[in-house]
This record gives sequence, C-alpha cells and structure tokens, in this order.
Amino acid sequence: MMAEHRHLVKQGAELVELRLDYINGPVNVRRLLRDRPGPVVITCRRERDGGKYSGSEDERQLLLRTAIAEGVEYIDLEEDIAAGIPRFGQTKRVISFHHFRKTPDDLEELHARMCDLDADVVKVATLANHTSDNTRMLRLVSNSRVPTVGICMGDIGTPTRILAGRCGAPFTYATFHHERKLAPGQLTFAEMKDVYRYDELTRETEVYGVIADPIGHSLSPLIHNAAFRASGLDKVYIPFRVPKNDLATFLEHDAPELGVRGLSVTIPHKESVLRYLSKVDGAVRTVGACNTIVFEDGALIGYNTDYRAAMDCIERALSEDGAPPKLKGRTALVLGAGGVARAVAHGLKRRDVNIVIASRTNERADRLAARVGGRVVDWGARHMVSCDMLINCTPVGMHPDVDETPFDKHHLKPSMLVFDTVYNPESTLLIKDARSRRCRVVTGLEMFIRQAVLQYKLFTGQEGPAELMRDVFKRAIGPVKY
Ligand code: NAP
Repeated sequence: MMAEHRHLVKQGAELVELRLDYINGPVNVRRLLRDRPGPVVITCRRERDGGKYSGSEDERQLLLRTAIAEGVEYIDLEEDIAAGIPRFGQTKRVISFHHFRKTPDDLEELHARMCDLDADVVKVATLANHTSDNTRMLRLVSNSRVPTVGICMGDIGTPTRILAGRCGAPFTYATFHHERKLAPGQLTFAEMKDVYRYDELTRETEVYGVIADPIGHSLSPLIHNAAFRASGLDKVYIPFRVPKNDLATFLEHDAPELGVRGLSVTIPHKESVLRYLSKVDGAVRTVGACNTIVFEDGALIGYNTDYRAAMDCIERALSEDGAPPKLKGRTALVLGAGGVARAVAHGLKRRDVNIVIASRTNERADRLAARVGGRVVDWGARHMVSCDMLINCTPVGMHPDVDETPFDKHHLKPSMLVFDTVYNPESTLLIKDARSRRCRVVTGLEMFIRQAVLQYKLFTGQEGPAELMRDVFKRAIGPVKY
C-alpha cells in the first residue's frame, strides 16, 4: 500500500484515499499514518456501503477515531455516523453517502442534511441509470454551499467523474490501476490526468464527446483528447453512454446544460438522432445516418464523416499522380449491408460505380441494393463476382477473431483495390492476404483516422493532427493499454 502511495505522489496525486477495509488482517492505523508520504483520506467502508469491512461497528469507528487522533488530513464518515463522531484537531470531515442501485429522488434533500453535519466536504456517490442523473449530480455540485464531490457510478455516470472539478468539486476519485476499480465506472489516475486533464478543466472548458450504448472501449476519447492537448485547446472529449430511451433527454436537456459543443455519434444512435437535428449536410441526407453533431447557438447540425472518409480513402488509393481517379463504370463488391455498407454504397453510387452487395442476410442486402441501384449476390456466391474493388463492411476479422477473413485469398487479384473497414487489428487477415496478392489496400484504420480528422475540423475549425491521432490509436490497439 505504501509503495503504491509513494508512486502516486510521484505521479502528481495530491491526496490519496487509504481504504482500511481492503487491508487483510489487523490494521495499525498509527504506523500507516506515520509512514504516509503525502496527505490522505482515511476510509473504512462497511459491506452495506460497498466496502469490505466485516468486523464490528465499534471496532470500525475506533479505527476512524484513532485516525482523527493521529491528525489525518481527511476522515470519511458516512452520513449516519457523522453526528456521533465530533470534529477534532485539524482533520477535515468528508461526510459521505453511497447508493449502488440508483440516484435517489430526494438527492437534494439528502445533500442538504449532509451539509449540516459539520462537513468540510460532502461526498455523494450514486448509480446513474439515466443521463439526467449526471446532470442533477453536477448541478448539485455547482450549487452547493459546502464543497461537494458528486459522482455518479456506472458507465453512464463516467462524465460526472471527469466534469465534477469543472463544476467546483474539491477533488474526485480515481483508481491506482485499471484492474483495481473500487467503484463501477471509475477511471484510473493515469486516464484522469493524461487523457482527460482533470486538473486543467474549468467552467470555460468546452465539452465534446461520443454518444453510444454500450460505450465499451471507444477509442475516440483517446484520440480527440490527445489532439486537443497537442493543439493547446481548452476542450475535453468525454464518453457518454446514452441508452436509447435517454436520447431525447440527453440531446434536448442534458447536453445543453453540460455545455456540450459537439458529439460523435455511434451505435445505436446514428439514425435515431436524425429527428432531433435542425439541419443536416448532404451526406446525412444521402446516407440517412449521422455520425457527428455540432451544437451552434441552440441548433443541432448533423454531418456524416464516415461517408466522406470512406470516399476520400478510396479516391486517394486509386489516384495516379494526385489526379482524382475515374471511378465511373468500375465494379465494387460490398460485403455486408449494415450502416458502414450503406455509407460506402451511397458514396460509390454518386460516383457511378456498379455496386454488387453480398450479405449474410439477403433482405438487408435487397433493401440497400434497391436504394443504390445495385445488385445482390448470395453470400455463398461472393467469390464468383468479378470486381475492381472489394470492400469489407462486416466485422469479420475483427479482434479477437483475427484468423478469420470474409473473402478467400485465392480469389483476390492484383488489379483489385481491397478496402477492409475493420480497424482492430490494423492489418487484418484480409489486408495481409491482399498485400501478399499485390492488391492496393485501404485499411479501416485509415478510414477511422480520416473520419476523426474531419470531425475534429467540424469541432474546432482547425486541421486535425492526423499523425498524432494515428499514433495514439495504434498505441491503444497495440499491446500498450491504459
Ligand atoms: P452493422 O450495421 O451491424 O452491419 C454489419 C454487417 O455485417 C451486417 O450486414 C451483418 O449481416 C454483417 N455481418 C456481421 N457478422 C457477420 C459474419 N460473421 N459474417 C458475414 N456477415 C456478417 O455494423 P456497421 O456499423 O456497418 O459496422 C460494420 C463494421 O465496420 C464494424 O464491425 C467495424 O469493424 C467497421 N467500422 C469501421 C469504421 C471505420 O471508421 N473504419 C467505422 C465504423 C465501423 P447481418 O445483417 O446478417 O447481421
């Protein structure tokens, strides 16, 4: 514990929480505090509050009182015991409340009662089931008369962990290591410091983010935050998990209240956001899907950078001496008939390419073919198609199934352009096979970075640092992870 503590202080942690309930065996509070390398909060959490302490309540409170007597900087006292443990010496009192199932309706009343418990800091940590729980929590932090650390747990709640400081919270909680999360949705100290620049966020910091459900391991926060930082912009990019049922509230209330200026949009919202947009660009109109929203004076403007990125990648790969290639009359075989296939197929149609679609589910392929004037072949007959371009818009070959390919190597010809939209790994088996058959290739990573660079331009008005974004992305999908 002390070695970790010293390490964190070296990394810049100004305050470290020592969780006595995580210590196996007898706890010597005096020795623990004597050896501390920096200021600490002492916490000994009961099982019913999500901790691990299973001894008697008298013994637990004795540990807390001993820490106060030893002059610890902060002591965490749950709101139901705080009145029974009086202030002593210089120790500051963190009055805490946890709810692991929801954010209670009477949060504001509860918080007001906690402020009256001789609190130096109030800590409220509740589970967010809705995006509006985050907004309520951050409003509470902003308006509080006592410094308040307000956190919503779970991955819906992650934005509160990042934005609490911007709303006036005296500190936030992060974990030492990603394998040692003490609460659901918690970020690591390194993520908070290096990715989200928690300490530098102020009320003026402009907020951007990605909306998705699940939010999973979206790499967009890594690359956009790295780009903002490199360009010296006072902006932060946040992962917003927005369940389908919360989309309207999020776009109409939560995002404006949080001061959101721009959003990347991904599964499952790319089509459902359309009805909330005030204006859309030609690509959104053509494809019927939006992956970028810019908030401008109360209006929501929709763009589709996937579409432009895919077309830019193809045109760049086929261009000779920088001149735009002639795509008219060429034939493209599109594998898959989902969202990405739709963007690619519409782009190809505008360039008068003959489109052939092969998809596992024929009905989806039929629908797409009808919209772009293409033809459908059965998934089993895809190798029989003679084409100039092969574009994989299925997830086949994606990590962890890296030994799979959607197209047999022996049917690849050197004259073909092979574009695999899968970006993790960068060199999928299809890309490796295509290179070995001397085809021109476009990787999904190129498309992903291109669409992110286009988004960055929409968010900032500046050219995105493509090389940096590519490096950060490669590091994230490589063996080094945060
Ligand atoms: P989607 O809407 O779910 O569509 C996926 C398509 O792939 C569907 O046609 C689906 O067929 C088909 N498919 C799924 N599993 C298959 C399998 N095992 N064998 C054959 N076909 C299969 O997804 P999406 O949004 O279009 O994304 C597709 C892929 O594009 C993603 O996996 C991702 O790797 C890639 N992508 C890349 C970028 C980029 O910037 N490079 C951006 C977004 C997505 P059914 O209809 O039969 O299920």
